[in-house]
Amino acid sequence: MKHRIQVALPVYLDGVFDYFVEGNLPEIGVRVEVKFQSRSLIGVVWSHNSNANVAENKIKSVLDVLDEEPVLSKSNQLFCENISSYYEHSLGEVVQLALPVNLRKKTAAKLEKEKVYFLVQNKEEIKTNPSAKQQTKIFDFLDKNKKIKTSDLNTNNISASSLKTLVNRKIIAFTEELKIPGLLQGKQQEAAKTLNVEQQRALHSILKQSNTFICWLLHGITGSGKTEVYLQLMSQIIASGQQVLMLVPEIGLAPQTIKRLQQRLAAKMVVLHSAMTDRERTQAWLAAKKGLVDVVIGTRSAIFTPLTRLGLIVVDEEHDLSYKQQDKLRYHARDIAVLKAKQLQVPIVLGSATPSLESLYNVQQQRYRLLSLSSRAGNARPPAWELIDLRKVPQQAGLSQPLIERMRLHLNRGEQVMLFLNRRGFSPALMCYHCGWLADCKRCDARYTLHQQLGKLICHHCDSQRTLPLICPACQQADLHPLGIGTERLEQHVTEQFSETAVIRIDKDSTRKKGVLEQKLRAIHTAEPAILIGTQMLAKGHHFPNVTLVAVVDADGMLFSSDFRAMEKGTQLLIQVGGRSGRGEKPGTVLLQTCHPEHPQIQLLLKSGYQGFAENELSTRKQLALPPYQYMALFRAEATQHDQVKQMMETLVQQFKNQLQNVAVSGPIPAVMFKRQGRYRYQILIQSDRRSSLHQLIKRLREQLNTKKGRKLARNVRWSLDVDPQEMV
Ligand SMILES: [Zn+2]
Ligand SMILES: [Zn+2]
Ligand SMILES: [Zn+2]
Repeated sequence: MKHRIQVALPVYLDGVFDYFVEGNLPEIGVRVEVKFQSRSLIGVVWSHNSNANVAENKIKSVLDVLDEEPVLSKSNQLFCENISSYYEHSLGEVVQLALPVNLRKKTAAKLEKEKVYFLVQNKEEIKTNPSAKQQTKIFDFLDKNKKIKTSDLNTNNISASSLKTLVNRKIIAFTEELKIPGLLQGKQQEAAKTLNVEQQRALHSILKQSNTFICWLLHGITGSGKTEVYLQLMSQIIASGQQVLMLVPEIGLAPQTIKRLQQRLAAKMVVLHSAMTDRERTQAWLAAKKGLVDVVIGTRSAIFTPLTRLGLIVVDEEHDLSYKQQDKLRYHARDIAVLKAKQLQVPIVLGSATPSLESLYNVQQQRYRLLSLSSRAGNARPPAWELIDLRKVPQQAGLSQPLIERMRLHLNRGEQVMLFLNRRGFSPALMCYHCGWLADCKRCDARYTLHQQLGKLICHHCDSQRTLPLICPACQQADLHPLGIGTERLEQHVTEQFSETAVIRIDKDSTRKKGVLEQKLRAIHTAEPAILIGTQMLAKGHHFPNVTLVAVVDADGMLFSSDFRAMEKGTQLLIQVGGRSGRGEKPGTVLLQTCHPEHPQIQLLLKSGYQGFAENELSTRKQLALPPYQYMALFRAEATQHDQVKQMMETLVQQFKNQLQNVAVSGPIPAVMFKRQGRYRYQILIQSDRRSSLHQLIKRLREQLNTKKGRKLARNVRWSLDVDPQEMV
């Protein structure tokens, strides 16, 4: 018996593809291996229908059926289809994302098992030989843990052959258990904290309607106890037999949160992180799909984990840019999480101290519901914010005199000070004072960053490196000087100024070695007086009770740039950083060094906090017809040949700018960094006040690029489409 089926394949072409299959009809959602053009591909059976326009003699047969059970459920298929049409990418590209790496290959979708050893004789009856060290070790381990898993052998230096001997002597037996990598068994070791009135209101509002889709925006100032609300909510959902998916911006920065979950929730949890192997990820994915875990915690891509009993989604720090995928299919994990919650009719909680303007706008439009936590939990008070006018005070290596005095004040009281500078390296440029030569990257429109400790110049955009020159390559004078300040230079200067105080620098460069970050964080938690220097790695999520002064070294660099979101993103980061101050018993201060103390947005932030800032910024966006008041897509293209990409983009703009009345097509605009990694980059901006019109135009554009003429036009050009772009770079 021969059946027609349709298969989703990992290709850039839209739609599904018809195949024949001999014998039993495979279930929808199982993987098959097929020939596509001349390649062998793994696809997913999408339907038992067929396309009447495809002639039977053109249809190939499936080479192999890989699964007995579907890897993608009907509801996951629908999720993929929704993402495909929202982001205007082929279904096959979405399916690629939805499957863990190993299931994109021929690997079996099976949960692995491992042997678990346990005692079968009474301990008293066993005649042990005290000189047999391995045996003693095994008995000690069993005494403590009741069982030994195969995965315990290596980590505890237990000899497999000694174990086997004991099995042969019938002292120990074994069974097989499912092996779930990274599984954490949480225990309720700590009691729930007493909630304040606002926390209670938030918790009860969500619980009262926990059987339906509502998108809640939990806006709580830093230190207001959002996590406590998540915890009590999650514990109720888990108790009712459902699963919870929690998204966090970066796992490496959330060890405290994970520890708290483990101490509070009597639940099985898996943490999906980048250090996992593909095999481990696949196993965790399968375990979640089988309903063997209660909580899945992960970054962006964890949104694709299938959860059969899903009852709640939590997106922590919903404003964070890392939720947006910045290559290939540029999805926003928060937005597709809302899509998923809606599809499955479950509640979703977006938490933030500084909600994105998109989410605040959605509250205004009554699409999301707002829950506010406006006071800090416990006895902590919000920090006081002050400005230092850099135009009026002497400064050295980025530190003004008033700041240095304030630092001494806090350090003398035995407290900690945090200096925030979002720029790694020693200095962002190297210049010859004799002839004005600047160390430029040849492949990018960018300066090399000087890394003094490495003795290197490094381009932060293409990672190209060169050794630090001793004399100017242009005029041969030994007159080279660092220009501007990075964390490395700040550290050097601070160490000179405060020779008695510990200086702890946390950035990507200083924490590259395994274990160093944990070591530095522990040092901070001893609460000895110290100066912490860091980039945004230090800003997110940490709770340092003895930090009472946070200084933002270069506030202007964070707020002012050509990107229309710079002010929003910079302000969010400022508040995040400032929120590290005064989280314990002692009151905190935040100092901003700026050359624009009178700037209206800075004034507004100081006077009325994020809420006031956001309302004002929203009305500006409305006036300027920018997102969230307009829908936007960005078409990017780049090529090593300048004329090729320019001509392609000009042709497209000409062709599409007058196609739809309510869609504006503008460009081609050279990218802010025009040349990067040896490629010239242009953008076309597509905007509309109606989402359906925006999509209509994008569809036409994609169709055009898929024609023979379009492919010729785009030859040697890399292009990509970004719906709801977050950065205009
Ligand atoms: Zn660097
Ligand atoms: Zn020179
Ligand atoms: Zn470069």
